[in-house]
Amino acid sequence: ADTVALDPWGSSTVDDYRKLFEEFGIESFDDVLPRVPTPHYLMRRGVIFGHRNYRSVADAMTNGDPFAVLSGFMPTGDPHIGHKLVFDELIWHQERGGDAYGLIADLEAHAARGLSWDEIDEHTESYLLSLIALGFDPEEGELYRQSTNRDVQDLAFELGTKANFSELGAIYDFDGETEVSYMQSVVTQMADILYPQLDEPKPTVIPVGPDQDPHMRLARDLAGRMRYFKVTEAYASFELDDQERALVTRAYEALAADVDDPETDVRCTDAAAWLDAERPDSASLESTIETLESGGKEPLRPRVRFLDRNATDDAFEALIEAVEGEKRVYEGHVDSFDLDREAAEELARQVELDHGGYGFLPPSSIYHRFMSGLTGGKMSSSIPASHISLLDDPEDGYDKVKSATTGGRETAEEQRELGGEADECPVYELYAYLLSGDDDEFATRVYEECVGGERLCGGCKEQAAELMAEFLEAHQEKREEAKDVLDGIDIELDS
Ligand code: SF4
Repeated sequence: ADTVALDPWGSSTVDDYRKLFEEFGIESFDDVLPRVPTPHYLMRRGVIFGHRNYRSVADAMTNGDPFAVLSGFMPTGDPHIGHKLVFDELIWHQERGGDAYGLIADLEAHAARGLSWDEIDEHTESYLLSLIALGFDPEEGELYRQSTNRDVQDLAFELGTKANFSELGAIYDFDGETEVSYMQSVVTQMADILYPQLDEPKPTVIPVGPDQDPHMRLARDLAGRMRYFKVTEAYASFELDDQERALVTRAYEALAADVDDPETDVRCTDAAAWLDAERPDSASLESTIETLESGGKEPLRPRVRFLDRNATDDAFEALIEAVEGEKRVYEGHVDSFDLDREAAEELARQVELDHGGYGFLPPSSIYHRFMSGLTGGKMSSSIPASHISLLDDPEDGYDKVKSATTGGRETAEEQRELGGEADECPVYELYAYLLSGDDDEFATRVYEECVGGERLCGGCKEQAAELMAEFLEAHQEKREEAKDVLDGIDIELDS
């Protein structure tokens, strides 16, 4: 089959990452890498291979603007070295100034995986200890459980008004037998993803595996719908006639679609340069929208221009900010629609009261490769020998590495002659994803020695096994220390 099935609750493996670029519009991380200040080693080594609009996050990082990072963990078992990738991504963004959120997807674990609350509580604590032990700062960031976060639940309910059964059914393959709680899980997860922007819109990145992409696409869609709702409601209140309202509505839809379009690297702010440009009349407005809607690749600028054909420069800028998800849309209308400021503020207040005043930016995502199982195939929580738990006794970790499958040849002689297949080797992955840490030189040396035939699997595994045991021992000591930290933060560990 040519298609790649992405199922967030299934066990899909993604054997050809390039297909994700073609079929789903995930962009290659290589394109954005030069924009990332001091990229993480997982980025440098291609473990993080794809993204959706990570540019906005990279730019915020470069410019010292606010941005956020959020990741959720389903507490279905012990955290293992595959989860460590995500912990590391979260922590790295926090260290670079991002507002960091780590959430425990306990409602989802209960609803979609049928775990009991006792099991969930036990694993929740364990995840949090590892996250803190690896460097997450809970004083600076926020840790929460879905089940006790009222804001997330309220937001989930609001988001539920913007999605319907057929749509979720199509994305997640729901049918008439699907429990309602699955749908509740979906909107809750959407709320998690948008939660960092509840107070203020900001670029937000969600580090995930590619199997989670359906969630990202839906979240990006819903973010646009919530924003569009707010803006068009505001417009509706300004007594536009039906025709004008329809035009504005369609223009916003086209705009929202464009902001989401990974092929367009034109930011709304670029439109500011067009302040003095000629403003089109309704007829050309109509035809521009038609071009956009029919999938034309016209740049964003004319679109923004026509939205405020009556506006002053200030109003124009305010409008652009609104389009970018800021909440200042109403001020822009002061001039555009001849309202006095007081009336506009009153209107803004009412709209906010009525509708919550969301102004979400479509969330960004980065995608990491799945680690291979040590026994070959996919790393799986349910096959102990395939993964190394962060709670494994260092001795056991050592033994698991020693018995791992390799990309080695049949005989030492052949290996010296042909070199090993590091690209197919779970042990090499351990070096690249974890054991080399930030030391690119070391990772490269292992690779080159392997493919050059200088490195033989026995010694290579011995070295990896020792490093793994050291890592586990150090990590588990830090988990002990993290207990005090966890005691001091406000999160319920018993449900
Ligand atoms: Fe894997 Fe090391 Fe053997 Fe190369 S030498 S195939 S990296 S175990």
